[in-house]
Amino acid sequence: MKKIKFQRATGTHDILPFDQKYFKKVSDILDDVAEFYGFGKLDTPIIEEAELFVKGVGADTDIAQKEMYALKTKGGDHLVLRPEGTAPIVRAYIEHGMMNRPQPIRLYYFGPFFRYERPQAGRYRQFWQYGLEVFGEDNPIADAQLIQIFYGILADLKIENVSIEINSIGDKECRPAYRKVLVKYLKSKASSLCVDCKKRVKENPLRVLDCKQEKCQKIKEEAPQMIDHLCLQCHQHFKKVLEYLDEIELPYHLSPHLVRGLDYYNRTVFEFFTTGPEGKSLALGGGGRYDGLVKLIGGKDVPAIGGAFGVERIIQIIKGGDFKEQKKPKERIFLAQLGDMGRKKTLGMVEEFRKAKISVSESFGKDSLKIQMARAAKVGAKYTLIVGQKEALDESVIIRDMDTGKQDTVKIVDATAEVKKRLKDQ
Ligand code: AMP
Repeated sequence: MKKIKFQRATGTHDILPFDQKYFKKVSDILDDVAEFYGFGKLDTPIIEEAELFVKGVGADTDIAQKEMYALKTKGGDHLVLRPEGTAPIVRAYIEHGMMNRPQPIRLYYFGPFFRYERPQAGRYRQFWQYGLEVFGEDNPIADAQLIQIFYGILADLKIENVSIEINSIGDKECRPAYRKVLVKYLKSKASSLCVDCKKRVKENPLRVLDCKQEKCQKIKEEAPQMIDHLCLQCHQHFKKVLEYLDEIELPYHLSPHLVRGLDYYNRTVFEFFTTGPEGKSLALGGGGRYDGLVKLIGGKDVPAIGGAFGVERIIQIIKGGDFKEQKKPKERIFLAQLGDMGRKKTLGMVEEFRKAKISVSESFGKDSLKIQMARAAKVGAKYTLIVGQKEALDESVIIRDMDTGKQDTVKIVDATAEVKKRLKDQ
C-alpha cells in the first residue's frame, strides 16, 4: 500500500508542548492587565457571517477581496473563518445589548484568526491575535490610554525597543476633501504605480499609502498628508491625544501616511513596531478609532477604539529575549503501585492530592517498582507513596521519605492530610 504522509496545511503551524509556555505567558499577562483596567473577556465563534466582514472591514479591502476562507453551509449560509477580531466583537456588543448598558464597555479577546495570505516568514494563514476594544468613549484620553495599555503589555512581556507610529485619518467630514487632493496627486503619478494601486486610486485611494511595493512607497513619500486637511474637531482630537501621550512620555512618532488596511477606522490610527531578528523592523500590532462601525453593523451611534496584536510576532521576540519560564513547583510526591489493585487505589489518590494542591507524579504504565522508584528519584520527590497488593487490601499506603529511606504505613483516607502535614513541618 502507498504510504500516506500528511502535513499541516500551508501557512498554519502546530503549537507544540514546548511552545505552549510562550502562548500562556502572553495570555496570562493580557488577562492580568485586562483585569486591572476593567476589560471583560469575550470569545466570539471562529465562524461568522461573511457579510459582517464585507460590511465591517470594507468590500474593497484585501481582507474581504482576497483573504477570507469562505464556506457555504448545507443550509445555504455564507460563513467565513474570522479574519479579524473587531467586527465580531462589535457584532456581539450589539447582539447582547451592551449598547444599552452604562458606557464605556471594555472588552478583550485572545484567539486564532484566518487570512488566506501569501505565507512568508512571520506571516501565517492561521495566526493568533489579542485585542482590546473600548466602546462608548469619544474623549481623546481613551485613545491615549489604550495606547498606554498596549505599551504596558509589551513592557510586561519585556519587549524592548518598542516604537509607536501614530496618525489621524480624519473623519467623514474632512476625509472626502483630502481624498480628492490625494487622487489628483496619485493620478499624476499613475504610470509609476503598481497594478493593484492603479485600481486603488479609483476604489480606495487611501490604501495606496498602505502598499508595500517599493515603487508605490516612493510615491507615498511625496503624497499630500491627511494631517494637513483635518477638520477642526479632528485636529483638536488628535492634538489632545498627542498631548496625553507626551504627558505619559510614550515613545511615539508621527507617521503622516499611516492609514491601516481596514475601512472602519477614523481619526486616530496607530501601529507598534520593534526590532526583529536581523535588525529588521517588525510590526507587532495596531489599531485605531472606529466611531462609525457600531452603527454600520446595525447598532447605535457609539464611538469606539481598539487594536490587535500578533501573538506569533510577540513570541518570536520573547523567545530571543531573556524569557524565563515560571518554575513549576517541584513534584513533592510520587505515587508508586504494584499490581492491578494497587494501581486502582493510586488512581483515586491522584485526585485527592490535586484537590489538596499538592503536585504529584506517577508512572502508572510501569509495573516494576524499581523503575518507579528510579523515576521518583529523578523528579526529586520528597516522599514516595507505595500501594502494593497487601496495602490495597488493607486500604493503606506506605509513605517513604526519599532522603532518609524511612517508611511508615498510614490509611489511604489519611494519606493526603499526613503528607500535607509533613511537607508543612519541613
Ligand atoms: P492587523 O489585524 O492586520 O492590523 O494585524 C495586527 C497584527 O497582527 C500585525 O501587526 C501582526 O503582528 C499580526 N498579524 C497580522 N496578520 C498576520 C499573519 N498573517 N500572520 C501572523 N501575524 C499576523
